[in-house]
Amino acid sequence: MTPAAGQGVTVVGAGLAGSLLAILLARRGLRVSVYERRADPRRADADSGRSINLALAARGIRGLQLAGVLDRVMPLAIPMRGRMVHEHDGSTELQVYGVRPGEVIYSVSRAALNRVLIEAAAELPGVELHFGQLCLGLAHERAGFELRDEATGRIHHSPAQPGIATDGAGSAVRDALLAREIAIVREEPLDHDYKELTIPPVDGRPALEVNALHIWPRGGFMLIALPNLDHTFTATLFLAREGANSFAQLGTPAAVEEFFRREFPSARALMPDLTREFFEHPQGSLGTVYTRGWHLDGEVLLLGDAAHAIVPFHGQGMNCAFEDCAELVRLMDEHHGWAGLFEAFEHERRPNTDAIAQMALENYREMREAVLDPEYRRKKKEAEEREKRDPNVIPRYSAVMFHPEIPYAAALRNR
Ligand SMILES: Cc1cc2nc3c(=O)[nH]c(=O)nc-3n(C[C@H](O)[C@H](O)[C@H](O)COP(=O)(O)OP(=O)(O)OC[C@H]3O[C@@H](n4cnc5c(N)ncnc54)[C@H](O)[C@@H]3O)c2cc1C
Repeated sequence: MTPAAGQGVTVVGAGLAGSLLAILLARRGLRVSVYERRADPRRADADSGRSINLALAARGIRGLQLAGVLDRVMPLAIPMRGRMVHEHDGSTELQVYGVRPGEVIYSVSRAALNRVLIEAAAELPGVELHFGQLCLGLAHERAGFELRDEATGRIHHSPAQPGIATDGAGSAVRDALLAREIAIVREEPLDHDYKELTIPPVDGRPALEVNALHIWPRGGFMLIALPNLDHTFTATLFLAREGANSFAQLGTPAAVEEFFRREFPSARALMPDLTREFFEHPQGSLGTVYTRGWHLDGEVLLLGDAAHAIVPFHGQGMNCAFEDCAELVRLMDEHHGWAGLFEAFEHERRPNTDAIAQMALENYREMREAVLDPEYRRKKKEAEEREKRDPNVIPRYSAVMFHPEIPYAAALRNR
């Protein structure tokens, strides 16, 4: 039976993918029960410390449009026309992203975007949102999830109906599928971590060009900064955990100060709270999660980071998760029953999510190293010229960021 109006579905996780998915499923007439471990972000202070802003591109925009929420999101979004490369000597160069008007990406606050999606989901009659509910895994001997109410400690179960797990990179549901030998999981941690810092306004004005993604590439590591609506920038340092030029060496304020003055003097001058923030803000880890076996019959499906977390260097994790949501809903028109739908979803998506995982890893080298290389710049200019002359020639970066009609796996074949 094709998933039909009035049927119930459980979604675990009301992060970026879960909240968008709830809207899309409810708009198809399904009854959606969402369980999220955090407190309701409409009431409590939003989580801080993990990627404060994100780059939104065409695939994500397409998902938001399909859900009818794009007009609520765009006022939160700041266009970024290209990467502004900051050389060691303080000189800058804007490397534009797209060759056509409108080929820009957008900086958007994770918390604000998530809140808008949750508000939009809550307005739909078919959506029930349950916050403060930690999913512990699959219910034993029956369909549904085992949950713990974080306020009371009470253990309970979600209804026995198909469930979609969007509980992120550390997915408890993925662990449960692994324990039952349904999923095969390979986690590849990156040996570089990240830390987020702030570049405040200067005299009430943004300290850097607003419509750009700023990069201070330094070969083995880099600092980037994305603009926020309040005229601040969120800067992120990506650096090895151990060894020469690593987080391990930045154990004292003096070491941090010396490192930033040496490597990023122009950025250092814009970060008055550098050393305080450096020791107060968490050091985040990164990695790729490859999973085979995203579903258990028609009972459970993994989607978004829960199925395929990637490193952030192509700015595509959320975009890909939104594309997952749109594709799942599209496949509903073609597939009979949840089991067939879930199977078709993995079959169609996995080659594409494997492709973006690879491109995201490759883009780290490009961002921290290749953008400095005159030969790379020459080739990029040539590719831009070719693309302007012949609209059928679409370089990989453009294919990923601006052409959602080109699957990731096909984009990977472009150079
Ligand atoms: C530093 C960094 C920068 C990034 N930059 C970009 C970018 O520029 N562009 C981009 O597209 N992507 C970016 N990403 C990736 C992006 O953040 C993720 O791909 C995206 O958040 C995935 O959405 P999701 O809904 O699958 O997971 P999440 O957004 O992580 O949501 C998971 C949700 O599930 C909840 N949850 C977790 N466990 C449980 C449980 N056991 N029970 C109940 N609820 C649970 C969580 O509280 C959360 O609300 C970045 C990631 C990082 C780390």
